[in-house]
Amino acid sequence: MTNRHRCMEDGCDANAIECVIPGGSQHEDVPEWFCPTHAVTAGYCGGCGVFIAGGDDRFDCGASPFCEHCREADDDEEDTDGD
Ligand SMILES: [Zn+2]
Ligand SMILES: [Zn+2]
Repeated sequence: MTNRHRCMEDGCDANAIECVIPGGSQHEDVPEWFCPTHAVTAGYCGGCGVFIAGGDDRFDCGASPFCEHCREADDDEEDTDGD
């Protein structure tokens, strides 16, 4: 066995990222593993796997499946191109 994790989504065999709920007292120490696509589907950031579902800004404008941190990183990259 390798250290590689597979997506928990049934039928999905993609490499997974660790999905965690920040400060989650209900699900502590029970990380889930999803590929970026299914992480987003399950309510996690597609970039780092932090849980973002239920946040006021999630899909606020049909927009970002990423947490603020990842959005900032993405914006920063775009800035280097357009600013
Ligand atoms: Zn998947
Ligand atoms: Zn993120």
